[in-house]
Amino acid sequence: MVLSKRAQSIGPSPTLGLTARAKAMKAEGIDVIGFGAGEPDFDTPMHIKEEAKRALDEGFTKYTPTSGIPELKQAICKKFKEDNGLDYEPSQVIVSCGAKHCIYNAVQVLCEEGDEVILPAPYWVSFPEQIRLAGAKPVIIGTKEEDRFKLPPPILSKYITNRTKLLILNSPCNPTGTAYSKEELQKIAEILVAEGIWVISDEIYEKIVYDGFQQVSIASLNPKIKDLTIVVNGVSKTYSMTGWRIGYAAGDKQVIGAMSNLQDHSTSNPTSFAQKAAVVALSGTQEPVTQMVIEFKKRRDYIIERLNQIPGITCLLPQGAFYAFPNISKVLGRVCDGQVIENSTLLAEMLLTQAKVAVVPGSAFGADNYLRLSYATSMDNIAEGSKRIKEWIKKI
Ligand SMILES: *Cc1c(COP(=O)(O)O)cnc(C)c1O
Repeated sequence: MVLSKRAQSIGPSPTLGLTARAKAMKAEGIDVIGFGAGEPDFDTPMHIKEEAKRALDEGFTKYTPTSGIPELKQAICKKFKEDNGLDYEPSQVIVSCGAKHCIYNAVQVLCEEGDEVILPAPYWVSFPEQIRLAGAKPVIIGTKEEDRFKLPPPILSKYITNRTKLLILNSPCNPTGTAYSKEELQKIAEILVAEGIWVISDEIYEKIVYDGFQQVSIASLNPKIKDLTIVVNGVSKTYSMTGWRIGYAAGDKQVIGAMSNLQDHSTSNPTSFAQKAAVVALSGTQEPVTQMVIEFKKRRDYIIERLNQIPGITCLLPQGAFYAFPNISKVLGRVCDGQVIENSTLLAEMLLTQAKVAVVPGSAFGADNYLRLSYATSMDNIAEGSKRIKEWIKKI
């Protein structure tokens, strides 16, 4: 084998792979309803695009400082202060090529070969692979639907060993839409501080929350947990800017400095004019975000209602993000065309080829009794797609 062990330890992203397959079927003229998307279906707001155009016209097309332009770091510091009550200096902030890149860098600089990283499941697909790429071991803790997929603090304590270096927390969560309250975070923070364990807090869905949920950053609870937290956020989801590749992180100066060094020798700076646009995204009008969340809430209410009408399927109401995560355990084990539907992967495969609906199997997120459906798609698609799923499931 020519490939390194490192390369062999990872596979392709199941979510990106599925989206590509559904797109290919569509291109062949097959009428597929896609629930695979991991990105808002809205366009980037005009005032943000205008700023990028202006930056291009003014010749802002050269290398920038690796860790981001000063005005963007200032806008990020201001955002942390105003939204999260967090005080950071620009030297504690790094801008990377997406939040995914920030998390990659943070895991690389924090984790040693053999370190253990605690990861609650269902988890975002890239977390285990990023942990493995650093030579560390993902210690996956399955959470329960009865606990709303939250990590109970006593369970967290049980899994801590002298090799535990880090916890990765993602709230609001992709794929479950679960969001931790301040009280819940406080209990987790107490344990982490007592044990001296770091936490990467992925807060990329912080603005996409419903029913008055109050998002709290774990870093804001007290100075001790702040010292141990790398907060990760970005413009991708909040401002429909997934393709622009701008994410950011804040935390301990030394850790951020090491992340910047790593970036120096890998990607260098994130795209110059995308950084200018990100300044405007963070400091300009937030009205498009409000409008997007209003629309997402309507779709959430609708898709959850429709899914719960399908016999054999139940689905919790997500508090944030834009995914439904229905329980399909009563559908697994049924037979279709003489084949037992043994797992979520096979069910997703059959839904794609037979019902012409693209969903992501829960196995991709470490939870085989579930499917993930993104509602970053039109109400018409939600109506048609859920109808197709219902009719197909009735037949088996
Ligand atoms: C989309 C997503 C990211 C990555 O966002 P980018 O800034 O586009 O890299 C990170 N974490 C979670 C949980 C996500 O869903």
